[in-house]
Amino acid sequence: MKIAVLKEAAGETRCAAIPETVRKFAALGAEVAIQRGAGTDASIPDAEFEAAGASLGSRADVLKGAGIILAINGADAASLKGAESGALLVGGLDPLRQRQAVDAYAKAGLEALAMEWMPRITRAQSMDILSSQSNLGGYKAVVDGAAAYGRAFPMMMTAAGTVSPAKVFVMGVGVAGLQAIATAKRLGAQVSATDVRSATKEQIQSLGAKPIFVENVAGIEGEGAGGYATEMSEEYQKAQAELVSSHIAKQDIVITTALIPGRPAPRLISDAQLATMRPGSVIVDLAAEAGGNVEGTLSGERVVKHGVTIIGASNLARSLAADASALFARNLYNFLSAFWDKEQGRPLLPDDDEIVKAIRLTKDGKVVSERLTAA
Ligand code: NAD
Repeated sequence: MKIAVLKEAAGETRCAAIPETVRKFAALGAEVAIQRGAGTDASIPDAEFEAAGASLGSRADVLKGAGIILAINGADAASLKGAESGALLVGGLDPLRQRQAVDAYAKAGLEALAMEWMPRITRAQSMDILSSQSNLGGYKAVVDGAAAYGRAFPMMMTAAGTVSPAKVFVMGVGVAGLQAIATAKRLGAQVSATDVRSATKEQIQSLGAKPIFVENVAGIEGEGAGGYATEMSEEYQKAQAELVSSHIAKQDIVITTALIPGRPAPRLISDAQLATMRPGSVIVDLAAEAGGNVEGTLSGERVVKHGVTIIGASNLARSLAADASALFARNLYNFLSAFWDKEQGRPLLPDDDEIVKAIRLTKDGKVVSERLTAA
């Protein structure tokens, strides 16, 4: 089995393989071919891939006869010519937004597998690219927020006087939010956090932060289905807005991460609430790509409103390319190796497997994902 790893399109820094996963695939009996320069932006020189046993070549060399193509993002089907008929294309394929690309994969005879649709079940945790990348994003949001903040995070008692600790408020305590809390705590900030799912209260406390919750209207009990939130009632939204208004004016850094699957991000901070914050405060909006949790957020940009810097964070994992690649590459390996058939020397993906059903987009020339065909 030949596994191809291509250089990603411009703007993508991550690489879908690292030397460790090359070795592990070789141990399964596969041969890994890497396009020259694929790891450069992730600080992995070609020589390291070669030392791990990969062959290096041009895009055409690498694709020729490949049975599996590993990718961070989906590529144009036309740029994947040369792979075996029925080859697996495994990566973050963004199926809803890249619907036409999915049709083209089907037409090209590729079997496309969208790793972001990995079900949230225990067996699939080590294959979950959303978690692995969000975790890094949560960390980087705090680091970027700290860099844009004109004051220090920790309390410092110096001969010239005391520097007071920064107050950090994390809104949305999923994978990214939890890592943001932990990172802000490590930097010495006073941290508070909120979510709509009641199970997060204990998680916030266990990290030494203060939970700030709507108490008079019921939120989502426990973890919520699959750990996901839904849109809240008007009554809840109103109560939440009041809570935010009373809390936010005293905060220096706000990290927002709130997302609702398949919906625009919930609006958690209005322009009027923003205006109550101290000049020099910083908001990092990790939901920027989904429309933003903050009024006025622009994805990929930094804007200043009422003296508050709003960073519209987009795909922060890309700015930690080496670690993000390592985790992503291991997610891909963990998935493929779990289905690897030693005798046939390739993964076998049973139609009735929960993971396969969730992530398989195309097979035998057709779009087969129910999420896509039902849409
Ligand atoms: P997410 O990215 O979908 O959302 C981020 C957070 O925003 C969530 O905690 C959500 O409840 C919160 N949110 C949504 N609307 C909000 C609002 N109006 N106000 C405040 N907060 C709001 O979530 P995520 O990070 O992908 O994960 C959420 C949970 O799922 C976590 O508890 C995580 O441990 C769990 N999870 C489990 C698995 C697994 O079992 N394999 C994998 C991934 C995540």
